[in-house]
Amino acid sequence: MAHGKGQILLDSQSVPVTVRCGKCGSDALDVPDRTDDSCIVTCTACNTAVGKWGDIKVKAVQHVQEAVGKEFKDGLRKAFEGDEYITIE
Ligand SMILES: [Zn+2]
Repeated sequence: MAHGKGQILLDSQSVPVTVRCGKCGSDALDVPDRTDDSCIVTCTACNTAVGKWGDIKVKAVQHVQEAVGKEFKDGLRKAFEGDEYITIE
């Protein structure tokens, strides 16, 4: 999809996502340095290394896009229905 003039880029990363430990399901994760994508995130409940912060972020964004992508677009289409300037493709 090309982003030409007048197109609004919707940021899916602004959707709040709770990351949970795959082993025990706890959301008490320790992220040592959120600005460093290569830092290892560990679960403080069971001490399992959940993965790299960068990988977790990518996964979270993918899940959000899969989950809300279609509904979100349908909602937008409805919101702009009949608008003479904005068309949601
Ligand atoms: Zn855990």
